[in-house]
Amino acid sequence: MKVAYTVKDLRDWLAESKKSGGTIGFVPTMGYLHDGHASLFYKAKETADIVVASVFVNPTQFGPNEDFETYPRDFEHDLRIAESCGVDIVFHPDVSEIYSDSDMIQLKVTDRADVLCGKSRPGHFDGVVTVLTRLFHIVQPDYAFFGKKDAQQLAIVQGLIQTLHFPIRLIPCETVREADGLAKSSRNVRLSVEERKEAVHLYQSLTLGRHLIEKGERDAERIRQAVMAHLEEHLKLGRIDYVEVLSYPQLKVIESINDTVIIALAVFYANARLIDNVIIEIPS
Ligand code: AMP
Repeated sequence: MKVAYTVKDLRDWLAESKKSGGTIGFVPTMGYLHDGHASLFYKAKETADIVVASVFVNPTQFGPNEDFETYPRDFEHDLRIAESCGVDIVFHPDVSEIYSDSDMIQLKVTDRADVLCGKSRPGHFDGVVTVLTRLFHIVQPDYAFFGKKDAQQLAIVQGLIQTLHFPIRLIPCETVREADGLAKSSRNVRLSVEERKEAVHLYQSLTLGRHLIEKGERDAERIRQAVMAHLEEHLKLGRIDYVEVLSYPQLKVIESINDTVIIALAVFYANARLIDNVIIEIPS
């Protein structure tokens, strides 16, 4: 496995693979890798000839009072995980390699970003599309792999690829969970023992919502209320940021469920904000 710290090194190595006609699979990450990331690497390995993973904590997607400085980082650990999953190249640039004082273009997301995390984290998705646009131009992948864990990001990346005509096939990957259902996340290490126990209710509340839909409930607000009620009953330490039931991937408010839908939530703990969701397809 190679490690590129500069755009030039990465480009030089990729140029060689491209010459021999190999396809490139790209997995962008912010590091502190876990089994969720590993599942994306395995999928990429299955799909493409060369797998590139970026490990870059992107400053432009963090708000002024968010956790950019304290976001968990352990690059040596990341290298071990990436290597064990068969990643061919890890791209680990310095912030100055991606952003410079002479930058003069800004990107703004105009749809799918005013709800869920976009509402609680203004500008977050502008930062996400900004870094991804740069990374996509640098890596020029044939395939890009994203987790459904970050379902709003996935919906926006789909719009980014379509809007900017990137010749990239987007591959959505299932959310990987702990044995008790908690979605794996780099931020889970920030939970206290008591918070970790309680956090099992995030996925349990989503499962409850899913069961209601499976049993035939089609009123979006009733499902939202049921998920909310479960959380309110069981969360003593966490504070609910949002629970929403929206169309997917459009992320529009709906009254009645008759097409693919997302139940999504976010909860604040003392040192971590957790998100989770389920996406449910309605058979026609
Ligand atoms: P991050 O490092 O948190 O920016 O995540 C990098 C990629 O890994 C994103 O596409 C995430 O959606 C994906 N990812 C993070 N956690 C999980 C998980 N538990 N299951 C599947 N994919 C995940």
